[in-house]
Amino acid sequence: MSKLHVGIAGAGLAGRTLAWRLLRAGCRVSLFDTRHRGDINTASMTAAAMLSPLAELAVADDEVFAMGNRSLELWPEWIADMAAQGHEVYFRREGTLVVAHTQDQSSLEHFTRLLQHKLPEASRSQLHSLDATALGQMEPALAGRFGGGLFLDGEGQLANDQWMAALAIEIDRLGGEWHEGQGVERVKARRIVCADASHDVDVAVDARGVGSKTQWPQLRGVRGEVLTVECSGVTLQRPVRLMHPRYQLYVAPRPNQQFVVGATELESEDDGPVTLRSALELGSALYSLHPAFGEARVLRLAAALRPALDDHRPAIALRCGVWHINGLYRHGYLCAPALVDDLANKLLNETVLNENVAHDDA
Ligand SMILES: Cc1cc2nc3c(=O)[nH]c(=O)nc-3n(C[C@H](O)[C@H](O)[C@H](O)COP(=O)(O)OP(=O)(O)OC[C@H]3O[C@@H](n4cnc5c(N)ncnc54)[C@H](O)[C@@H]3O)c2cc1C
Repeated sequence: MSKLHVGIAGAGLAGRTLAWRLLRAGCRVSLFDTRHRGDINTASMTAAAMLSPLAELAVADDEVFAMGNRSLELWPEWIADMAAQGHEVYFRREGTLVVAHTQDQSSLEHFTRLLQHKLPEASRSQLHSLDATALGQMEPALAGRFGGGLFLDGEGQLANDQWMAALAIEIDRLGGEWHEGQGVERVKARRIVCADASHDVDVAVDARGVGSKTQWPQLRGVRGEVLTVECSGVTLQRPVRLMHPRYQLYVAPRPNQQFVVGATELESEDDGPVTLRSALELGSALYSLHPAFGEARVLRLAAALRPALDDHRPAIALRCGVWHINGLYRHGYLCAPALVDDLANKLLNETVLNENVAHDDA
């Protein structure tokens, strides 16, 4: 019996993670991307990779919440699989702290009420209001700086650059055929069409993010900007969200005293460099969290487009014989394991079904 050959257009978080799962399941995989594997100018390489089903419920729906919670159970298994192959991927599940300066307390109160209203009853016990003392005990760097806060128990984060790098090594090790620097012009049923050649496959998957727009016109890009700094003067145990009447920003700690500050959200498909306004807003939010961030070294200011559909839900769809995985919007890392797992199972089960039919016919 020959191996199922899956062609995947797009080697971002969705395409790369799917390729890895299918290779592990014994498939043959051909992966195509305009960019090279180390290129950091994609949504997947720019994300803060916070795994925040609770906080995101303020802007998302029950489906994203459920997918996020399922993914939070899968991530430790998948990270352990990587560790078993010698790839360390920073992953923490220490919860998230939400704070507000005195003048923005009403934003925090509204946010708390909104979550209490939208959360299923069984999950409400994950919300904990903290007074100033409890906040200082939980996050000593913030002691005395805020009158209190909200703790979202069970939320997580990971280092996306480490995850994407580990996937690349594993895809090579498992024999994936990676066509780097190969733009895909069209994904057809059982065929990936590049400028200079067409590649026949058993199943074709389109995972090109905003690059799939020509084949899925409802997709749009939503611009997001982040600032990455290194700062030895502050240590945070967990991501901190800072409420503000105009925007909600977060500071996510990373290994080596690095912090990712994000993210703006602009209804624009401009993926050009970060604007001065956004740099000032991100920097000011960081500095207002703790003045020691004033000495932070700026490592990266980056912008990328989140691929979004109108309902802002990540989607798997079979359109004209092509499987699509797209619309991951601001929840790619939050939802990827559940989504990829579902698509991988569909592809594998469909093949088993087809083989059984072929067998019966014979
Ligand atoms: C600033 C920012 C912060 C974020 N923070 C978080 C967060 O904290 N938590 C979270 O869960 N999510 C977050 N996200 C969202 C997350 O990054 C995205 O949902 C996810 O990365 C989308 O992955 P993707 O693989 O679908 O798309 P992409 O990352 O866009 O990958 C698509 C790939 O397809 C390739 N491609 C495009 N066109 C073609 C073509 N014609 N031919 C071949 N290849 C092509 C591209 O080169 C790219 O490699 C954030 C996003 C941004 C921008």
